[in-house]
Amino acid sequence: MNPRSLRFRVTAWSVGFLAVALAIFSAAVFLGVQQFLTISLQRNLRNITRNIETVFLSEYGRKGEAWAVGEIRESYGGGADRYVRILHNGHEMYRSDDLRTPELSVATVPLPEPGFEGTVRHTELAGGILETIDDYDAPDGQHFTVIVGASQDVMHGVLRSLAWILAATCPVVLVLAALAGFVLIKRPLRPVSILTEQAERIGRDHLGERLQVPATGGDELQRLAISLNRMIERLEDALAHNHRFAADASHELRTPLTIIRGELEQAIQEPDLSNTTVDSIGSALEEIERMSQIVQSLMATAYLDSGGEQMDREPVDLGRLVGSTVDQMRLLAEEKNIELVANTLQPLSIHGNVARLKQIVVNLVDNAMKYNRIGGTVSVSVYADGDKVLLRVSDNGIGIPAASIPFIFDRFYRADKTRTRATGGIGIGLSLVRAICNAHEAEIKVQSTEGRGSVFTVVFPASYLEPILPELASQTDRQRLATVSETLSTR
Ligand code: ADP
Repeated sequence: MNPRSLRFRVTAWSVGFLAVALAIFSAAVFLGVQQFLTISLQRNLRNITRNIETVFLSEYGRKGEAWAVGEIRESYGGGADRYVRILHNGHEMYRSDDLRTPELSVATVPLPEPGFEGTVRHTELAGGILETIDDYDAPDGQHFTVIVGASQDVMHGVLRSLAWILAATCPVVLVLAALAGFVLIKRPLRPVSILTEQAERIGRDHLGERLQVPATGGDELQRLAISLNRMIERLEDALAHNHRFAADASHELRTPLTIIRGELEQAIQEPDLSNTTVDSIGSALEEIERMSQIVQSLMATAYLDSGGEQMDREPVDLGRLVGSTVDQMRLLAEEKNIELVANTLQPLSIHGNVARLKQIVVNLVDNAMKYNRIGGTVSVSVYADGDKVLLRVSDNGIGIPAASIPFIFDRFYRADKTRTRATGGIGIGLSLVRAICNAHEAEIKVQSTEGRGSVFTVVFPASYLEPILPELASQTDRQRLATVSETLSTR
């Protein structure tokens, strides 16, 4: 569970808000029930007061104190959970029995101070006592104060239970809400994960693809996908424009370069030239040669990148092609005192352009020799791994600094800028290799440790085998690969 993920944060915020809402709700329920119970108790006590006054005390003058006290005792003398006290002209005329729940001697409850003007009184005795106090003037002029009291013990018990129930259920509700939220939010966020995966895949080399727009009825996600697709389209246009420009520019440069080279080659033939002039023309010719190579590579890369080059493709036995190319480069390796090994060359066929595939091998092997040490080794292999065909060129040369690895496929990038023209190249070989790989839908990977060597691996997808033997279309990639390899090895 990632605490920075949107899913986690949305759930956390919702549970936070729910916790606040539950706290407010619980407090409101608690206070509401407390208010209701208090008002109900007060109403009950007032009803008893009114009954005593209208039924018994109003007859005091006619029937006497003994009758009134007897009647009141009979009706309210029980003393179970409430009590009655009647003051006649300031003296206690009647006091009901002591309370039993909770136990409380009524005599210990102080009488209201003379001049007390309220109608309700709270005392802390026996866990809280509520009294209603009412002054009554009987029709015959007698003055009474009727006090009816009750313990709030039961009410407090109810409130305590309520508080426990709320305190116990709220955390459970919160945990359930958090779990449900975390699980349920996965579904609406699913399109975000899909968009992210697709956007990652599209990256720089698959700008022709588009994000799948989720059918979510014009919501934010749908709008985001549409906007991202527009952005990718603009990027693709800009990139294509760039590639076209580079392709056109290098194409235009080719003719003047050929003309200059022709002129210089003719000029150097002149008989009366001084040695210095011959040297100058020779050096200019070398530079023209170098420029022509740059222009050619640039043009090839730009055409391949822009998809402008329609490559002729045919079944190519990659193992055999690599074998013959390596043989052609052996002389160069010997000159540099490098051991060039090509021991694992399985006869694996892919569907590609021979000339371009050869360029991949030449560039990778050339680099592996160029950035090596005297007596170093370069190994080349072609083999199948699962349903893929792999070409691997490894060396035990100088390696590439980790910080440079992400840039080595960029045009004109050189890891070691201080390298001289004689030892280093112009930084365009690997960009051409990558453009050819892209055109073949192959992936190129590099692993390198500075001072220990590098391994370049080109991974061709198995689908490249398909057109060689179309009748194999119904087989899985792995089966196809096995069948094709078998067929080619027996040819
Ligand atoms: P260059 O013409 O300079 O060789 P590349 O595009 O072929 O240009 O390579 C770009 C850079 O990558 C090189 O300048 C070099 O620094 C580095 N590089 C390529 N291959 C290797 C290798 N096998 N070992 C060490 N460094 C390499």
